[in-house]
Amino acid sequence: MKVRTRMAPSPTGDMHVGSLAITLKNYAFARRHHGQFILRIEDTDKVREVDDGIEAIQRILKQYSLDWDEGPNVGGKFGPYIQSQRLAIYQEKAEELIAKGKAYHCFCTRERLQEVKEKQQAEKTPPKYDGFCRNLSSEEVKKKLDQKIESVIRLKVPENKEIKFIDLIRGEIVVNSDTVNDQVLMKSDGYPTYHLAVVVDDHLMEITHIMRGEEWISSTPKHILLYEAFDWELPIFAHIPIFLNPDGKGKMSKRKGTVSAQSFLDRGYLPEALLNFFMILGWARPDDVEIMSMVDYIERFDPADVSSKSVVFDIKKLDWINGIYIRKLESSELKQKIEKFLPNDFPKDKLDSILILVRERLERLSDIEELTSFFYRDIQLHDDAKKMLLKKSNVEEVLTQIEQTKSQLLEIEDWNTANIEEAVRKLQENKEWKKNQFFMMLRVAVTGRKATPPLFETIEIIGKKFTLERLNQAIKFLSN
Ligand code: GLU
Repeated sequence: MKVRTRMAPSPTGDMHVGSLAITLKNYAFARRHHGQFILRIEDTDKVREVDDGIEAIQRILKQYSLDWDEGPNVGGKFGPYIQSQRLAIYQEKAEELIAKGKAYHCFCTRERLQEVKEKQQAEKTPPKYDGFCRNLSSEEVKKKLDQKIESVIRLKVPENKEIKFIDLIRGEIVVNSDTVNDQVLMKSDGYPTYHLAVVVDDHLMEITHIMRGEEWISSTPKHILLYEAFDWELPIFAHIPIFLNPDGKGKMSKRKGTVSAQSFLDRGYLPEALLNFFMILGWARPDDVEIMSMVDYIERFDPADVSSKSVVFDIKKLDWINGIYIRKLESSELKQKIEKFLPNDFPKDKLDSILILVRERLERLSDIEELTSFFYRDIQLHDDAKKMLLKKSNVEEVLTQIEQTKSQLLEIEDWNTANIEEAVRKLQENKEWKKNQFFMMLRVAVTGRKATPPLFETIEIIGKKFTLERLNQAIKFLSN
C-alpha cells in the first residue's frame, strides 16, 4: 500500500513539543512504508499568523532532522504546499459543493448571528447556526451576490444522520449529524476555513493516513461529511493523545513552563534524545527497550500501538535519556555542542580536561555551569559546609588536617594528579586519619560540595594557587 502522511502546522508561533512528537510519528510511518511525508503550511488564519512563522516551522523540523519529501521549498507534484497560495482551489471546490446542493451561500450579518446566539443561550440550547439561508432560492442568492452583499459558504449538514469513522487508536466513533453545525467553509474574505482547506488538501495531496492531535477529533465528523459530500474516499485517522504536564495535572501548556520544541534545544536537550523520548512515551512495547535509534523506530512504529490515554511528560525520564545520548557523543562533538552553554568565565583552555571529568554527570548540556562552576569561580562556605567539614571529626583535628595538607601541597612542583594523589595519600596514611572523613573534608574544603568528580583530578584542574587559597579560606571559616 502506498502511504502518504502529512504534518499540517499553522504558522501561529513556536512549535509545541506535542506537535513535534506527532510529526515524528507521521515521519516514521511514511518511512516505514517507503511512502512520503508531506509538510503543508496551513496559513488560512491571517489574524493568528506570526511573522517568520512559516520559516520557523521549517527551521525547527530541520533541527530535529525530520525532513519532508514534499512541501515548501522542496516542492512536489501536489503543490503549492502553502494554503494561502491555493485559494483558487478552495473557491472552486466550495462552488462545486454548492452546485451539488451540499453547501450554500449565507448572507447573515454578524448582528443577526449574534441575536441567534443570544437566543440560544437564553434557551440553553447548544450554539448552532439556525439554517436561515439554507433554503434561499437560486434567484435570491444570485440577486444578493449581484448586489455584492457579503456572504460566506456553509456546509449543508444532513439532518439526523449517523456519521461514522474508524480511529486507529480509539476504534469506531459515531456522531449524530444533528450535533454538527452548518460549518462555514469559505469566509467572506475569500479564505477557506480550516475544515474545508484541510479536507481538500488531504484529498488532493493523496494523504492516506491522518495522524494528528486529539484536539482535532471533534472536527473530524465535519470532515467526514465533507468527504462524503465530495464523494471522496476517506483516509485513515489516528488521533494522538496530548501530553500531560510533568506533574500529571492538565494538558501540557505554557502556563507550567516552556513547551516549545525550540526551548528544549535551548535547555540543552539533544534532538535525538527528545525524539527517543517521544518514541517510547505512550507506547506499550512488548519489550522494555528504552533507547532506540530512528532506524529501529521506523522498523517498529505502528499507530495502532499508541496508547489512547494521555501520557505524562516525564521530564526525569527525558533527562535520563538525554544523559545517555550525551555520553554517546564523541568528545569533539560534545565540545562543539556544549560551546554555547559555557558561561563567559569558563576557562576554555581547560574545557577538555573538565569535560572528561563531568560528562558522566551531564543530563542536559546546560548543566555544565552548575556542575563545573567551582573549578573557576570563588566558592562560598555556608553553615551546611561547616557540618560537612566537621563530619565525623572536630574543629581541632580538621584544622590540623588542612594545615598539614597545605604544607604537603605547597611542596609539589609539578602540579599533576599523580603527584597530588601521592602527597595526600601519604599524609593520610602516615597520620592514620580516617580515609572517608579526611577525603570528604578535603573535597568540601576545595570545592564547597559533597559530590564532585574524582578528587585528585579536580584538584589538579583547580590549580595550585586556588587550591591553597581555598584551604586558607576553610581555615578562616572554621576558626571563626
Ligand atoms: N492546521 C492544524 C494545526 O495547526 C492542522 C490540524 C490537522 O492536522 O488536521 O495543527
